[in-house]
Amino acid sequence: MEKNRVSIPQVETLLQQKKLSSYFDLISRAIVTNLIRDELNQIREQKLFDLSFDKIVQRCETRCAQVYKMRVHQVINCTGVVVHTNLGRSPISKTTWQAATNLNTHYSSLEFNLESGKRGQRNSLVEHLLTTLTDSEAALVVNNNAAAIYLILSTFAKRKEVIVSRGELVQIGGGFRIPSILKESRAKLVEVGTTNITTRDDYSKALNEKSAAILKVHRSNFALRGFTDEVSTKELSELLDEEQLLIVDQGSGVIEADLPGEQKVKEHIKMGAHLVSFSCDKALGSVQAGAIVGSKKLIDKLIKSPLYRVLRPGKTVLTLLEEDLIKHLNKVDPPVLSLIKKEKEKVKEETQKLIAFLNSEKFSLVESKITLGGGTTPDESLDSYAVQINSTKSANSVIKILRNQEVPIIGFIEKGKVHLNLATLLEGELELLISSLEKIKELL
Ligand SMILES: *Cc1c(COP(=O)(O)O)cnc(C)c1O
Repeated sequence: MEKNRVSIPQVETLLQQKKLSSYFDLISRAIVTNLIRDELNQIREQKLFDLSFDKIVQRCETRCAQVYKMRVHQVINCTGVVVHTNLGRSPISKTTWQAATNLNTHYSSLEFNLESGKRGQRNSLVEHLLTTLTDSEAALVVNNNAAAIYLILSTFAKRKEVIVSRGELVQIGGGFRIPSILKESRAKLVEVGTTNITTRDDYSKALNEKSAAILKVHRSNFALRGFTDEVSTKELSELLDEEQLLIVDQGSGVIEADLPGEQKVKEHIKMGAHLVSFSCDKALGSVQAGAIVGSKKLIDKLIKSPLYRVLRPGKTVLTLLEEDLIKHLNKVDPPVLSLIKKEKEKVKEETQKLIAFLNSEKFSLVESKITLGGGTTPDESLDSYAVQINSTKSANSVIKILRNQEVPIIGFIEKGKVHLNLATLLEGELELLISSLEKIKELL
């Protein structure tokens, strides 16, 4: 027994092993130490006293690697989904990121008016840019679109009725459900119409003195086809009296681009919506935030709400968004829009280049599709190309090998084969992808 105990190394000795100390910068010395202690305890508990020193180091290393994988990593998106909710939605433009560096690593005038020398408004230029882009009177930014809707409903519809079409009671992504948000904000949901058809009459019958608003929600991640009908923003605005609001959850944040199935924010404003909310990290292509645009009187009220103080974004978000909105006004596309607009022939060329370089039967060119994703144009896809990997291994094991690369490659499986769509590659990633695949092609 005594002898066995001696065979378990000291934590300090293990910490000096290069394989483990190399994780200090990646996950911290404290966490590496805890993981080693934990592993040694397990070894003791399971009485694995005949493990060699190298084996113990290896077990500790595996633990460190598992924890390191929990960090946010750069990945190569070969899914063909441009705004991918699991992959960070919109990548931020490099020049935007650089422009915001000094603002975020120094003190800034976030709430200081340089003109008057007095306390300023953190929303100021962003508001100006958003109103210009969407032809609206006023604008406000919060942490995301869910927060935007919550703020609007809590402020204007608490204990009052909000009318929503049954065709629009949607769940978007990870648990954002329109009925739950209504409940949370203590507004009373009044469902009208049916799943596929909601008419003007359905809305007008539901309207009464207790109605605070009609909420129109973009369906985002599902499509209705066949025998369907809905009421336009314009028709809805004509149904309301002075006190009642028309709120539109536009979702995607399409400002100028003509994307199939998407209505621009300013079109809703023009058609009479009082408030329109949208995400800033979908088709707008910027940072995670939610924007509210519309009537000045209403937005002033939102700004004064104590809830706004809870939901307002920090300087990182505002400085990046400011920069991206200026780019939009100057007609400079964010990365997601450049990807969407990329010629499919260019994608074909790049795919052929990669296949020629790898020079193996394992890779072939196939037709494929790209989708916008992230709750935009659910039913629409654009023609594209992809690399098909012809492996004797199972698709799942190929996908896993790709995912285990230093910069993980995220592909997708179709008809039992792994595909990599290069349409969603960003600057410099084609070279990175080619060199990674070159290294592992024998394994595939
Ligand atoms: C994406 C989306 C949301 C949620 O937006 P977040 O910015 O993720 O909070 C809400 N409504 C619609 C219609 C959406 O498309």
